[in-house]
Amino acid sequence: MNILDGKHVSQVILSNAKQQIEQMQAKIGRVPGLAVIIAGNNPASASYVKSKAKKSAQAGIHSTLIEFDAAVSEEQIIDKIIDLNQDASVDGILVQLPLPGHLNQWKILDHIHPKKDVDCFHPLNQGRILLDRSSIFPCTPAGIIKLLDYYNIEIKGLNAAVIGRSFIVGKPMAALLTNRHATVTLCHSRTRNLPELLRRMDLIVSAVGIPDTVTADMVTENVILIDVGINHIANYEDAVRLCDQEETAKFSRKGYAITGDISKQAFKKSSWFTPVPGGVGLMTVALLIENTVALFNQHHSLV
Ligand code: NDP
Repeated sequence: MNILDGKHVSQVILSNAKQQIEQMQAKIGRVPGLAVIIAGNNPASASYVKSKAKKSAQAGIHSTLIEFDAAVSEEQIIDKIIDLNQDASVDGILVQLPLPGHLNQWKILDHIHPKKDVDCFHPLNQGRILLDRSSIFPCTPAGIIKLLDYYNIEIKGLNAAVIGRSFIVGKPMAALLTNRHATVTLCHSRTRNLPELLRRMDLIVSAVGIPDTVTADMVTENVILIDVGINHIANYEDAVRLCDQEETAKFSRKGYAITGDISKQAFKKSSWFTPVPGGVGLMTVALLIENTVALFNQHHSLV
């Protein structure tokens, strides 16, 4: 059981980005700009956005947070996106999801200029991902591929299951693994006999958002386990059962602990696994920064 250490690999990516940004500033006279839009008061979204802003600033990116209250209209967000599309100091635009329920997310996301679409939410970029013709890829799946590459894990030929089919994680993850020659099964809430299917896999990516989606009896020895799920556990007994020791120890201070979708016992059977926290989440933020740098380079025809 070896750790795919998102903390370490994300720091490597961040320090490379920082160096590149210093060179860009010397050459172009400005640093890459990232605009993050958040609407409503979802505490999980607020904490992701805070972490994204903090890490972007550390890398030297100029990051702007645009906050709307929960009653915002589609038109108000779209008007802001149109401004940002025209703002030459902004290279990347991210709309933090989920949006409040009354908003049509597709209508909003369709307005992000495809060349500023830092997490590939625009339909044009979703198509490019499938065709393997995109210059950047969605932050979470791209971060997972980076992590596997960093530890020299060969993806080609693996039988892989992705659990969860959102357009943010599951679907692009399946596409990226297919592009790298894995044989991929995309699973969801209507998948029949999930445990039996998972036992045949060399690699499992779980992006569901339910603890214990993958337990030890569902996996074979030496499987590679990638845990995307982020679950807030508010009950101490559940935290002891579901979370790792370090996270459980923080329970009394924070009032909750975080765990993923995959059980601790399943990790024990794996050859490689991503801890939660300390795995995929940190890679997602690192890729947001790497993608912003890539969009800046394209903006200035540096690639
Ligand atoms: P969504 O809620 O959009 O998708 C969840 C998916 O899980 C759906 O496809 C759903 O199936 C499937 N599902 C639900 N129940 C089951 C089940 N019992 N068995 C199999 N599949 C099931 O979530 P996201 O993709 O946005 O996020 C998933 C998780 O990943 C969340 O915990 C989120 O917080 C986390 N996340 C973490 C990130 C990171 O950086 N670490 C980044 C983004 C998300 P169906 O389509 O049939 O409804």
